[in-house]
Amino acid sequence: MKRIALLVAPALCLSIPLLAGDDSATQDPAKKSPGYDDTPVLPGQEWRVHDSKRPQPPKVAAAKVVGGAPSDAVVLLGGNDLSMWQRGNGDAAVWKLEDGIMEVNGTGSIRTRDEFGDCQLHVEWATPADSDGDSQGMGNSGVFLMGLYEIQVLDSHSNVSYADGSAGAIYGQYPPDVNASRAPGEWQVYDIVFTAPRFDDEGKRISAARFTVMHNGVLIHNNREILGPTTHRNLPPKGGTAVKGPVSLQDHGNPVRYRNIWIRPL
Ligand code: MG
Repeated sequence: MKRIALLVAPALCLSIPLLAGDDSATQDPAKKSPGYDDTPVLPGQEWRVHDSKRPQPPKVAAAKVVGGAPSDAVVLLGGNDLSMWQRGNGDAAVWKLEDGIMEVNGTGSIRTRDEFGDCQLHVEWATPADSDGDSQGMGNSGVFLMGLYEIQVLDSHSNVSYADGSAGAIYGQYPPDVNASRAPGEWQVYDIVFTAPRFDDEGKRISAARFTVMHNGVLIHNNREILGPTTHRNLPPKGGTAVKGPVSLQDHGNPVRYRNIWIRPL
């Protein structure tokens, strides 16, 4: 049984099980579960502190490589297969695809066939290594949640555009907290946690959509409540009452590349 040591306080070491491929959390039914049945009940929960009857979390095998899809993810782009993607009219997506790398080619934005609401999304992307554009014309693409809410993809390493349209921006609403951009041509990563909006039975919005986003491992939006669907040169329009929608990738006319895209519905 593999264990790692975690120093949590001076002179106090805990030993915790490794997640992937480790069965140490499996309980022997003949053995009493570790924990207590005489501790206080946690406020707002049905469980006691360290409750011995509290179910163990489900196991997920982490990927063998950093950034790889864990065992419970839906792989949206993991090889030479575009079957998860379609064009706006429902036809098969025809973006260039080679060696697991998909490239915008002027045939229009694409979206997933499946729809998602609350989710964790991992996307790797690269803007062109050489481009003679500027501002919004330099490596422009975008990752849309529910087809409505864009996290901007742009070359923002040395290219300047309006702040709420730079790489990692919630387009037209919030710039990223910091600019964590790599140079054009280099692979970059978005790890996005998205909370879909909620509506009551009459269609009135109870809570807005929220984004937490890491760009190349750097936090750029922390549980940020957004105003509504993202749009160009205008205030957010009403977004209907959908709580699920496709992930879509924008064709903005620049040959931006994508690879290793996976999603975990939450
Ligand atoms: Mg864009």
